[in-house]
Amino acid sequence: MRAALKRASYVVVGAGIHGLSTAYHLAKELRGRGSDAGTEIVVVDKATPGAGASGIACGVVRNNYFQPAMSELMQACVEVWESDPTAYAYNSVGYVALGAGVQESDLTATFERQERIGYRSELVVGEAEVDGHMKALFPDWRAQGVTICLHEHQGGFAFNVESVLGLRDKCLSEGVTILSHTEVTGFRFGLEGTVAAVETSAGEIEVGEQVVIAPGPWASRFWVMLGLPETIDITTPSGEVVHDRPMWTYWNLQEGEITVDPLMFATADGGAPPVIHLDTDAPLYTDDGDLVTDELWGIYFKRDRRGVQGGASPLVVDGDVELDPYPSTTDIDPSFPDMWCAALSHSMSRFEGCRARYKIARSGGVGAFTADNFPVFDYVKPNVYAILDSNHGYKMIGVGKEVASVLLGGHSGLLHPFRFERFATGDLHPVSSSPYPWS
Ligand SMILES: Cc1cc2nc3c(=O)[nH]c(=O)nc-3n(C[C@H](O)[C@H](O)[C@H](O)COP(=O)(O)OP(=O)(O)OC[C@H]3O[C@@H](n4cnc5c(N)ncnc54)[C@H](O)[C@@H]3O)c2cc1C
Repeated sequence: MRAALKRASYVVVGAGIHGLSTAYHLAKELRGRGSDAGTEIVVVDKATPGAGASGIACGVVRNNYFQPAMSELMQACVEVWESDPTAYAYNSVGYVALGAGVQESDLTATFERQERIGYRSELVVGEAEVDGHMKALFPDWRAQGVTICLHEHQGGFAFNVESVLGLRDKCLSEGVTILSHTEVTGFRFGLEGTVAAVETSAGEIEVGEQVVIAPGPWASRFWVMLGLPETIDITTPSGEVVHDRPMWTYWNLQEGEITVDPLMFATADGGAPPVIHLDTDAPLYTDDGDLVTDELWGIYFKRDRRGVQGGASPLVVDGDVELDPYPSTTDIDPSFPDMWCAALSHSMSRFEGCRARYKIARSGGVGAFTADNFPVFDYVKPNVYAILDSNHGYKMIGVGKEVASVLLGGHSGLLHPFRFERFATGDLHPVSSSPYPWS
């Protein structure tokens, strides 16, 4: 069988947030230069747009990153979200990160950088002050052990599938071809490691110019297809070399929802609530008084269409990971619903008894993480650009805009810190005290 399309200048693999954002911004840029993008760009997906991680993401858009490069890139991404909130199903409700003592210096540094780069946020320090700030928003706020609060007045969340479909429509309106149900099975290489054709379940697509891979959790499969090393050596900033680190590991993202009237989760003045992220070392009990944990724990949650949705710390996946179908029905840890509902109730009395409203839904999923848990945005072959976001990236809708400019010969200072070479040169990102692999 032959693919419907036999040749394209640009072949983008993966119709998630990154593949579609790249295709859209590239098409727009080409049109601006007088080309007909429709004949030049094809997006190939083995399923349909949003079938991967982008369609299951909680959708949180935040800039709470300790790493300067992440923070600056996120600022650019939030600008893209804000550029068309309707098409992107974007809710600019803000984001509140609440932390225990161990996170004070990180959140303070993050806030100070946000001030410098002009990202709108405020910092509240001290247990009583944080409690007052949160009670002004939610009079029944009652979380314990929280001594610092970073309240970002930009960011919020977007509805996952709708935003992907918004991008899909933008691609179509620019003349981009999207081939669904077309699986990439390999690459035919030409001179000097360039990819001459993308092999698919529907035949070959010859590559006129460049290939972009944006495969989300399927990153390691493409890594292997491209003949890249499964383990790498990493030079630390102090010059020590750590040998044979796996390039890819997997974490299971624990997420779920409670079915309640969404309006029960509103601010004191009836407004839309910001996304809440709470980390604390206060002992956590269920509503029945059973101890869940007395160690540092964390949850995040947001108002959704059917109630309240959110998650907790992810779990490392040991051994083989099953990605098809995605997400697997076994992705949620059985203890997650008790923990997450206890934590909701710990934070606000309105959530007392919410365990009974927990709903088994299509939530949670596996993410693929790089050797240092930060994205790789770089050329991995002379004409193959890889967008491998290490599961940071639904919020990173602007990466595709930067990549489009790189494909056309530009330089992106925002993407430069995420080059693959950093593992060899020791230009790694600083590590925070957060319990999450993505902060
Ligand atoms: C449960 C969960 C919650 C998350 N919550 C958030 C959040 O709140 N905020 C945030 O910023 N990030 C979040 N993330 C991370 C975020 O979802 C991902 O980083 C991001 O969506 C990845 O986008 P992508 O376009 O690279 O990949 P995907 O959206 O996974 O798209 C990859 C596409 O490639 C296709 N594909 C794979 N293999 C092939 C092949 N061989 N041939 C053709 N097509 C192929 C797939 O069908 C898929 O459509 C979450 C992730 C998970 C799992």
